[in-house]
Amino acid sequence: MRAVDIIRKKRDGLRLTPEELAHFIEGVTRKTWEAYQVSAMLMAIVCRGLDDAETSELTALMVMSGTILNWSDVLGPMVDKHSAGGVGDKTSLVLVPLAAACGCKVPKMSGRGLAHTGGTLDKLESIPGYRANLTPAEFRAVVEEVGCAIVGQTANLAPADKILYALRDVTATVESIPLIAASIMSKKIAEGIHSLVLDVKVGHGAFMKTFEDARKLASTMVNIGNLNHVRTVALLTDMDHPLGHAIGNSLEVIEAINTLRGQGPRDLEQLSIKLAAWLVVLSGQCADLLQAEARVRDALYTGRGLAKFREMVARQGGDVNVIDDTRLFPQAQHHHFVPAPHSGYVAGIHAEQLGRAAMLLGSGREKLDDMIDHSVGIVMKRKPGDKVTQGDALAELFYNNDDQLPDAIELVNEAYTLGAASITMKPLVLETVTG
Ligand code: URA
Repeated sequence: MRAVDIIRKKRDGLRLTPEELAHFIEGVTRKTWEAYQVSAMLMAIVCRGLDDAETSELTALMVMSGTILNWSDVLGPMVDKHSAGGVGDKTSLVLVPLAAACGCKVPKMSGRGLAHTGGTLDKLESIPGYRANLTPAEFRAVVEEVGCAIVGQTANLAPADKILYALRDVTATVESIPLIAASIMSKKIAEGIHSLVLDVKVGHGAFMKTFEDARKLASTMVNIGNLNHVRTVALLTDMDHPLGHAIGNSLEVIEAINTLRGQGPRDLEQLSIKLAAWLVVLSGQCADLLQAEARVRDALYTGRGLAKFREMVARQGGDVNVIDDTRLFPQAQHHHFVPAPHSGYVAGIHAEQLGRAAMLLGSGREKLDDMIDHSVGIVMKRKPGDKVTQGDALAELFYNNDDQLPDAIELVNEAYTLGAASITMKPLVLETVTG
């Protein structure tokens, strides 16, 4: 069997056999396929797709490319949440400690930034000293003793995904239902968890631009989860506009900390509570969502969620002084306000454009080995529905290097639509897919 023949077959829109998919994944993991062949194969999948059986097979092969964690010696329901990627989406930073404060055990393996969306690991690494690369024994100890840990994928957990994820980020091969489903579900199955809540974003800032695609991605992942004995629910949530106000690594962590203090943006707080409540329900600790939401709210407003976050950061080597005083986070040297060109109401903020503007300022990667700048990003001063007067600041850009600043400003200007009348906001959760 040759890589080129398998790539050609998918390029021509034909179904791949389990043996051909196995050759691909083995080639990725053992590096017997060159990166350009893997990239070509990914592009063929983006263009031609995989059917449900191929997607399940690909997921299983990606799980089997490494080991599956076993938590049978840890007391408590093992749960996790994963987002299909959005702009300003920092819910994991809020809901993971909240779920832990409600009795769940959350062994979270997160990813880095992907395309125009930020990654939880990049965000957390803006905390000086934070170690996302715990040894397996350290990871286990933090989950057991604190109730949650957020780490990167260990070398032997779905290693095929780790390689594919980084390549997809720089080869424009992210936006594909089977590739996203296999990427997310392989990691989650390999984590050895019992329950999973998926946040499938839909809209301008999401990889799924239409409701139909988001629903298809959600049901594909829910089915794969349930088939693999992971009780899975997916929430379809709005990503026409970015979540919260901050985009960019340290800016998002600061916003998450403020949210854990009960002083965060309403949309971020509400969605984080909802997702955490689903974890509490799926883990069997509350009979219904209302009861679970009350329990999560209590953890938030009594500060138990923030205490868990602090404990987790400390155990992962992070400097907790930045949590107590967020001015200690690395600061960008310069800032620039983008003014409203005329008076009116904010009718929309194109999330993908704002995500790309933040990347131009240095918050994401263009090439595999690019360094990111944790301190840069964008804070939205006005959100959809807000009234503005000409000259009011729409957004504040934080940067260290002005090479791409003019392009970033242009993107921000384009991202904001101002209208004559206020708008009605869509609900945050558009649909729940339970399988
Ligand atoms: N999150 C992942 O882990 N993988 C994807 O492909 C997209 C979002």
